[in-house]
Amino acid sequence: MTHRLWFRLSLTFAVIILVTVVTIYFFVSERIADEMEYYKTISAQYRSDQILSRLYLFYWKGRSWESVQTVVEDTARVSGTRIILVAANGTVVGDSKTELLGTNYTDSSESPVEMFLGAQFLGDVYIIADPQAEPYVAPFLRLSASINRSLLLGGSVAIAIALILTFVLSRRITSPIGALSKAARRLGHGELSQRVRVRGEGEVAALAQAFNSMAGDLEYAEQLRRNMVADVAHELRTPLSNIQGYLEAIRDGVVEPDAAAIRSLNEEASLLSRLVNELQELSLAEAGELKLVFQAEDITKLVRQAVPPWQPQLAGKEISLFLDLPDDLPLVNIDWQRINQVLHNLLENAVAHTLRGGAINVAAGVATSGGGRWVEVSVSDTGEGIPAEDLPHIFERFYRVDKSRARATGGSGLGLTIARRLVEAHGGRITVQSKPGRGSRFSFTLPVAE
Ligand code: ADP
Repeated sequence: MTHRLWFRLSLTFAVIILVTVVTIYFFVSERIADEMEYYKTISAQYRSDQILSRLYLFYWKGRSWESVQTVVEDTARVSGTRIILVAANGTVVGDSKTELLGTNYTDSSESPVEMFLGAQFLGDVYIIADPQAEPYVAPFLRLSASINRSLLLGGSVAIAIALILTFVLSRRITSPIGALSKAARRLGHGELSQRVRVRGEGEVAALAQAFNSMAGDLEYAEQLRRNMVADVAHELRTPLSNIQGYLEAIRDGVVEPDAAAIRSLNEEASLLSRLVNELQELSLAEAGELKLVFQAEDITKLVRQAVPPWQPQLAGKEISLFLDLPDDLPLVNIDWQRINQVLHNLLENAVAHTLRGGAINVAAGVATSGGGRWVEVSVSDTGEGIPAEDLPHIFERFYRVDKSRARATGGSGLGLTIARRLVEAHGGRITVQSKPGRGSRFSFTLPVAE
């Protein structure tokens, strides 16, 4: 319990209030004591002046202390003191308690007030006051007691309120934190749909928001992983079952194990091997682990070198190829091999999807978009084009517009996905425009070398 937030907060508040109350009590009582002392002195002075003036009046009227006892008793009663009057000859002539009348009184512990009338010594007056019975001090004592009571009561009420408030407050703070740690535990056990409610603003709400977004990312990543595994299994299954089918047919004597059968088997095995290679490359690219060697390169040179290998196929389909490459293009900062791969993929698709007698145009030019300077390379064809509903998905993994035909032509559906990752690894963007029946235009940007 001592580690709980509400307990620590409550304890802190209680201690703070206690210290405050004790400090106030200390200063207030000091002040009251000072004031009381001062007032006591003033009132004692005033009282003794009153007493003496009565006694002087008495003496002045009769020129003797005879029968002063009644005045002494009266004055003592009114002033709340004991008065002893010792005449000049040392005999007690007045005592408010009558005990010492007629005796010779000398008390060294009390200092008397000496009475003179001109030069004549009249006697000593002892005024003995009981401090507790002092009529002027009593209000101070009452005030001090009442202040003490109020401080005690106020302090207790403040501590009680503080305890209740801190309890409620800390519950409000800790309950979302408790919910968060519960959700985090569940998340750790694989319940990726865990989310917490975000209430209000402030640090705890920000924490809850951060948790939710982290949980969302985790869930999304897990979904991607599952999809990937399912897609890969699905893609591997087809060539594998083809191989299996061929082998079973050969075993059962349905198909001759001749050169044609072996060629078919080899084609399926090549497809499998290409798929595995591309998957490996894609996973490296998605993890950002492709090792790219950036250098300032001449993109027109790269394009001119990429084209010749396609000549036989272009000639076979009677496709005309046009190059539109300005002489003054700036150098680009690229990994030659990787951009060559991107161009190879785009040319491969263009050749595959362009009908006999069509045309392919490869162009490059400077583009300024998003601030920096870029060189844009485009591959346009007069092929069948891509339907509008397929365009947003064309760069997704294993996406094919015509599933059956693409598989027949050996396409893995990974080429454009890898091309996009490679272009993005260079900081560029790859886009597509297409009109079904008219053709497609794929273009990508590359950073100009500074
Ligand atoms: P594939 O290996 O199947 O070619 P890609 O990722 O390279 O995979 O292409 C994905 C799909 O996009 C292809 O299956 C095809 O349907 C479509 N596609 C790509 N390039 C073109 C193009 N130039 N003309 C028409 N369709 C294209």
